[in-house]
Order: sequence, then structure tokens, then C-alpha cells
Amino acid sequence: MKTMPDSKADPAAPPAVPAESGEGFSSSRDTGRTSATLRAAALLVLLVLVLFAAVRFHMWQTPPEMKQQLVLVNPWNPVSEIAYTPKLTEIEGGFLADKMCAEAAGRMLADCRAAGCRPMILSAYRSVDDQLVLYDEEVQRLVDRGFSPELAEEEVSRKIAAPGRSEHELGLALDLVDEDFTETSDRQAQTDTSRWLSENAWRYGFIQRYPEGSEEETGYAWHPWHYRYVGEGAAGNMHSLGITLEEYILMFYSEEASVVYDKT
Ligand SMILES: [Zn+2]
Repeated sequence: MKTMPDSKADPAAPPAVPAESGEGFSSSRDTGRTSATLRAAALLVLLVLVLFAAVRFHMWQTPPEMKQQLVLVNPWNPVSEIAYTPKLTEIEGGFLADKMCAEAAGRMLADCRAAGCRPMILSAYRSVDDQLVLYDEEVQRLVDRGFSPELAEEEVSRKIAAPGRSEHELGLALDLVDEDFTETSDRQAQTDTSRWLSENAWRYGFIQRYPEGSEEETGYAWHPWHYRYVGEGAAGNMHSLGITLEEYILMFYSEEASVVYDKT
């Protein structure tokens, strides 16, 4: 019997490596990298699924007052349609806010001051009538500067919610500025107060509701001074995922969070 001088005939022989310099090694490194990438991707998918399941489970167990914290108000979801009635209490500066929001805000502002900042509440709860006055005044201010009424309204509606469409009517929103710079402009984000709040507010259950670059989701331009109380769990999740309230509700709650449970 003839023996073939071919390495393929020997099952113990190592697999053939192409003669070209190092190509075999680099392709095995590539394969290694690819499988590491696949493992990392699989792990990431698994983490997202676990987080999703945890939030769904949490939602299933969520008591009504917590769902109330997630009530969604934006240009497409007016307050009037959800008939929300806040339980108002007084907070510093003579303002009113829902008591869940007020209690958390008290702790947050105290800690912010302890860190050397000078936070100040510029606005909190506003009734529909308050909102109407504010909105009309701002439109009039632009008309006086030469804007047509239509253009003035279009411009104002990017910055100020139309009556019936403001979170301030829920008593769950606060406008927070630095005592030394009270302007509600993008420059507010450069103050020490604003920096501290954007890093820490989630620990107290607040989110910066209208972040930079989210106008399409939220309906409003960047408001570095506007904070919304959503509860600590939800704020922590939104902070770590880097998403808006609209995206969070869409992802985990569907329409449920917009339902009002407590009309007392
Ligand atoms: Zn505001």
C-alpha cells in the first residue's frame, strides 16, 4: 500500500498555516477579537434585558402614588386630559409644590448649599391661569419688539408651555437657578448650582426634564433650569440610561403612567 506524503493524511498533524508572513496569526487574533466582541455584545443585551425585566417587575408592583410621579405632560399630553390634582404644600420662597416634590426638593437644596452652591427657586407650582398670564406676557413682549403674533407665539411655545400643557401645573416641576445668576438662558448651565444639580438631582428623584438636544422628544428647547420630580427609582434609571421621560415611559410603561390615580 502506498503512503501519501501529505500532512492531511495524518490526523495528528497541526492545521496548515499559510506561508505568508504572520497572516495566520493575525486572522486568529481577529477571530479572538470577534468572539470577545460578540461576548461583550451578548453581555450588554443580557444586561439591558435584566434591567428591562426589573423595571417591568417594579412597574407591576408600583403603587399608585409612584405612578402619579410619572404623569406625562407635554405639548401632546395636556394636563386637562389627565385631570391631575396636586396635593400642594408650601416650599421655600413662598412657592407651592406637590408634597412629594417639596419634601425631596428641601433635602436636595440643603445638600446643594452644603456643597457651597447658592440655589434658588424661581418658579414651582403654577395654576392654568398663572400659566396663561405668563405665556401671554411673553408673547406680548415679542410682539412689542416687532414679531408678528403668529411668529411670537411660535417662538414662545418653544420656551414656555402653553396653558394646560405645563408640568408646573402638576406641582412636580421646579425652576432652579443660581442666586448670583437668575437668568433662564442656556448660560444658566455654566453656574456652580446648575452643575451640581445636573450631577446630583437624580439622587433626590429629580431629572433635568428638557436636556440639550432633546427637543424632538420633549417638545421643548434645552431648559437647564427646569427640574421635574419623578421619584428616586425612575430618576436613577433615566440618569443611567441617559433618556428623557418620554423615552422612559415609552420603553417601560406605555400609557399607564399617564393615568391619574388620585384625584383627592
Ligand atoms: Zn420650568
